Amino acid sequence: MIDLAHCRTLDARDPLRAVRDRFARPAEDTVYLDGNSIGAMPADAASRVERVMLEGWRDARRRGWNRFDWLEKPWRMGEGLAHIVGAGQGDVLFCDNTTINLYKILGYAWQLDRSRPVIVTEAHNFPTDTYVAEGLARLVGGGAALLRIHEPRELDGALSRRKVGLLYLSHVDYRSSRRWNMAKINELARARGVLTVWDCSHAAGAIPVDLAGTGADFAVGCGYKYLCGGPGAPAWLYVHPRHQDRAWPVIAGWMGHADVFAFAPTYEPLRGVRRQQTGTPSILANEAMSAAIDIWRDVKREDLAWKHRSLSELTTALLEQECGKFGVRITSPRDYDEQGGHVGFSHPGAGSVCEALLEHGVVSSFRKPDVIRFGISPVAISHEDVWVAVSRLRHVLETEIWREPRFAKVSV
Ligand SMILES: *Cc1c(COP(=O)(O)O)cnc(C)c1O
Repeated sequence: MIDLAHCRTLDARDPLRAVRDRFARPAEDTVYLDGNSIGAMPADAASRVERVMLEGWRDARRRGWNRFDWLEKPWRMGEGLAHIVGAGQGDVLFCDNTTINLYKILGYAWQLDRSRPVIVTEAHNFPTDTYVAEGLARLVGGGAALLRIHEPRELDGALSRRKVGLLYLSHVDYRSSRRWNMAKINELARARGVLTVWDCSHAAGAIPVDLAGTGADFAVGCGYKYLCGGPGAPAWLYVHPRHQDRAWPVIAGWMGHADVFAFAPTYEPLRGVRRQQTGTPSILANEAMSAAIDIWRDVKREDLAWKHRSLSELTTALLEQECGKFGVRITSPRDYDEQGGHVGFSHPGAGSVCEALLEHGVVSSFRKPDVIRFGISPVAISHEDVWVAVSRLRHVLETEIWREPRFAKVSV
């Protein structure tokens, strides 16, 4: 039997205890288990953004470009994140949003070998990922097409096809929380001469990601989920050093020019990952993201790994212990090494249960037809939070309060 005392013992052992205090406490008494949608706010994010507005915008304006680190921020933030995703220093860049970065990176990777224009992806990849690939294929022609696999076992056969040059996957499935074994898949792709593009949106900042160590070729990810960069935060991208200088970026923008302020009439790419910059960065959004990055700089990879595993295993065990008899069934992978950022479970009344939980101070998310997701953000939640959330869920189920008509309308 797991009890509250056990959860508190785990918290006392938590190497990221102090990190948690660097995030702002929300105004209401909620346990926030939706860090997979929008992560927690760093305590100093608001004052930092305000300072940029006042000192940078009100006072300095154009002179801000010289006075502050606005132009350097995109790659300085990349340096701060690199260890969390197992990337080398200087191989990660923050810019644009995830969708745009997917387009840039997929197009860049695609043009490296036009003789093999077919892109393998999952039929159930995140919608924007699939759309971007479809749109790119229409634009470039030349035999570009998507080959969609439905089951992991179809992967090897797909990669062995003659015209396949790219493998394009989400590290973690946003619904099922199933995690691909990045090391194994990269090895398989390498053996078939296929380049890999990973979307780490539902992985980075939660589970261990090791881009360089597993030999990934390219990756992108979201800034506002587990990375806590704020609503609409800039996204990041990664290019392995062996590919950084092989081609022009798909969007040859002036901020990726070898000499930005020369205003040269023709394009010449910067060296390295920085050629993937497009235009003027979002200075205000970057400041909020930087507040989070300054926290990530102090997070050790192994501490993050320990905590996410510990919280995930606790959540799974407590859901079964406390709520199994009320119809809760775990739907995310049982083997932690196959699990992504969130723990998912089904219940026949999931939509209404999720609504009732909200009223009881637990923020989770519902996915049709019957799954609730508990996003596990290791920097922002404690083991005791998990205990509280599951206790509230138990109450909602035991009393059947979720059946009340006011919970029938399910929000998104
Ligand atoms: C959240 C998410 C995105 C989001 O893309 P935006 O351009 O930021 O809206 C893309 N891909 C995956 C896999 C995601 O989880």
